[in-house]
Amino acid sequence: MANHLLSRSWVEISLDSLSKNVLVVRELVGNDCRIIPMIKADAYGLGVDNVLTSLEACNPWGFGVATVAEGCHLRDLGVDKPIVVFSPIPYQSYREALAADLTITLSSLESLERWVCASKESKTCGRFHVEIDTGMGRAGFDWNTVDYWGEKLRVLANRDQVVWEGTYTHFHSSDTGFGASTEVQYERFSRTRGKLPQDGGMYHVCNSAAILVKPSFSADAVRPGIFIYGGNVGMPGQEPEPVVSLKARVVLLRDVEKNTTLGYGASYKSEGRERWAVLSIGYGDGLPRKLGNCGETLIHGVRVPIIGRVSMDTIVVNISVLQGVKIGDVATLIGKDGGQAITLDEVADVAETVSYEILTGLTPRLPRVLV
Ligand SMILES: *Cc1c(COP(=O)(O)O)cnc(C)c1O
Repeated sequence: MANHLLSRSWVEISLDSLSKNVLVVRELVGNDCRIIPMIKADAYGLGVDNVLTSLEACNPWGFGVATVAEGCHLRDLGVDKPIVVFSPIPYQSYREALAADLTITLSSLESLERWVCASKESKTCGRFHVEIDTGMGRAGFDWNTVDYWGEKLRVLANRDQVVWEGTYTHFHSSDTGFGASTEVQYERFSRTRGKLPQDGGMYHVCNSAAILVKPSFSADAVRPGIFIYGGNVGMPGQEPEPVVSLKARVVLLRDVEKNTTLGYGASYKSEGRERWAVLSIGYGDGLPRKLGNCGETLIHGVRVPIIGRVSMDTIVVNISVLQGVKIGDVATLIGKDGGQAITLDEVADVAETVSYEILTGLTPRLPRVLV
């Protein structure tokens, strides 16, 4: 584990908070519902090896990933629970997925035929979940045409070589004012489910937002992601415990005269005499470039503005209001300092993106420190 005392900038991960968040999920869905924590993209950038043990707090049924490589990595770490690959994968990867006993998700009869063949060839039993497209549009069997594919799916799925382990859909707007569209998707899913000619294994629909807003949609299993990692899902009073903090050190101090230009494009010019601090973090670490001239940082518990553009390796903050900042002091880009806090979601808002992109954008140059 990285020693952050020696680092220029780093990510702090509170495993305590992460465990609390998964326990909130467990409480909401009850003990009979299976939980499939989503740990794709290296557990939303936190590092899958860092979080696995803490996720056990909710007694997960299995884990969700996006790629075969992510699934194989989990097997290498010793995970023997089911691992479901939730993004479509190329036919070329089927063999590798079977070798690692990964469960894949299918969106077409052709992919199921291929999965049956690959399973036969590998002399293993290929497990799969069927995705139903109820409005997301990017993957899944079209809910509208179940009368066409339902029976064919049943026949294919009956082969000895494969096991139909689950059936699910994915909401497109559950986090933006969970409303009519989510109810419509749920209704389409239920109707399709009713038309499927055989038991399609476990049924699941809920991501984080849906778990929090509509635990009654939980069905047999839920797939929480961002909430576990401290991302807000737009439910007032249901904020997760913050999990991730982002810190960088002051590496240089500058006293500048009026009209001193700063950074690429000279997009900032001092309005008088100012004191600037250079922080050792930039977009090469995953700090969004959009924070240039509009983001903020905490130093000594005070909010100070990021001035000029974000460079690859550094940013500059205006600390004219502060006394006594020293080289080596720690600035907080996400997290708490004194009585002040900058939340993950605040940074995402300022950067005009979502918490997911902020977390998965944190690059390997930042050591992950467990606290
Ligand atoms: C990523 C993902 C989730 C988790 O979504 P969150 O909004 O992070 O909770 C659930 N289901 C599927 C299919 C996903 O790809």
